[in-house]
Amino acid sequence: MPIYEYRHSGKTGPTCDEVFETFQKMSDDPLTVCPVCGNPVQKIISLCSGTVDKLAPSRLKELGFSRWRKRDKGTYERE
Ligand SMILES: [Zn+2]
Repeated sequence: MPIYEYRHSGKTGPTCDEVFETFQKMSDDPLTVCPVCGNPVQKIISLCSGTVDKLAPSRLKELGFSRWRKRDKGTYERE
């Protein structure tokens, strides 16, 4: 079974890590609430699947990545 990573999008409970992993079948619906604390969670997109370029810049920033855009004169500008 694949491991999915989820992140609390609301406040986290005292017993919860902000990010947690869970086993799910491919056919299972993604979790929308934490099974432990009941706060809302969102699935983290796997960065191993080669979809980084397709992610929105705001999402990348959230994940700790920065996009750099090439400018004239060989300089790069942070988006
Ligand atoms: Zn929780």
